[in-house]
Amino acid sequence: MQDAKTFIKNELKDYFSPDEISSLTRLILEKEFAIPFADILAYKFNHLSDAEMQKLGEIIGKLKKSEPIQYILGETDFFGLTFFVDTSVLIPRPETEELVQWIVETVKKESIKILDIGTGSGCIAVTLAKKMPSAEIHAWDISKDAIEIAQKNAQKNDVEVFFLEKDILQESVSDEKFDIIVSNPPYVTEFEKTKMQENVLNFEPHMALFVPDNNALIFYEKIANFALTNLNRGGKLFFEINREKGKDIVCLLKAKGFKNIERKRDISGNERMIKAEKAH
Ligand code: GLN
Repeated sequence: MQDAKTFIKNELKDYFSPDEISSLTRLILEKEFAIPFADILAYKFNHLSDAEMQKLGEIIGKLKKSEPIQYILGETDFFGLTFFVDTSVLIPRPETEELVQWIVETVKKESIKILDIGTGSGCIAVTLAKKMPSAEIHAWDISKDAIEIAQKNAQKNDVEVFFLEKDILQESVSDEKFDIIVSNPPYVTEFEKTKMQENVLNFEPHMALFVPDNNALIFYEKIANFALTNLNRGGKLFFEINREKGKDIVCLLKAKGFKNIERKRDISGNERMIKAEKAH
């Protein structure tokens, strides 16, 4: 019988690049079958049982239909932590790790109050809670299913986050004040949708991704307005952004009176994040 590594390679060679196959092999064997990476490299693991081979066959079948490996395995890593994911939440992206890193680097004060709007899997909120143990973290999402996943992720990573099911497009008043408001809102335009890959389009929640072409900044506008009333003086706003929209979002924030507006590129060189400060 073939070993699992060769089996995966043969099955997937017409569907993925060799690099992608290597990382898929590692993820499947490590996460699904608990085989340590060193053993995978050394071909040291024993052959899989019949039941395990059947499971592997199912996984391969789903991959061939473009289902993302993170949904197949039900979890993914983000900032060194593990998060449950299903199709009700976006798969956490490396760009978002960079946004979290920027916040952690920027914030010097310990006991602050942070709000994450559109938390999805909770990856931003839970990671911030882990990195800033004295901060009080709140996180909202319009989706009840997303909030359930995010809650499980807070438990899994042993942190406290105050979750609330809330639609920011409806929310206009709240008495609560925050020192930081962060959001990775939907920002892919309907036009850009046509260029997206099947694994995203057919599986990830469209509600978390897409905005109308003629109102692409709808979430930035709403969240900036909310931040004007609900950030403490000197409080900061952090956004993940569509790389094509940096200039427009800077204009929007300037017009609303935010100061010290900074844009930041991600590791791929795309403008991906914005930070702004509330002036008064
Ligand atoms: N970066 C994600 C993607 O391109 C989009 C995230 C979002 O819309 N907030 O798939």
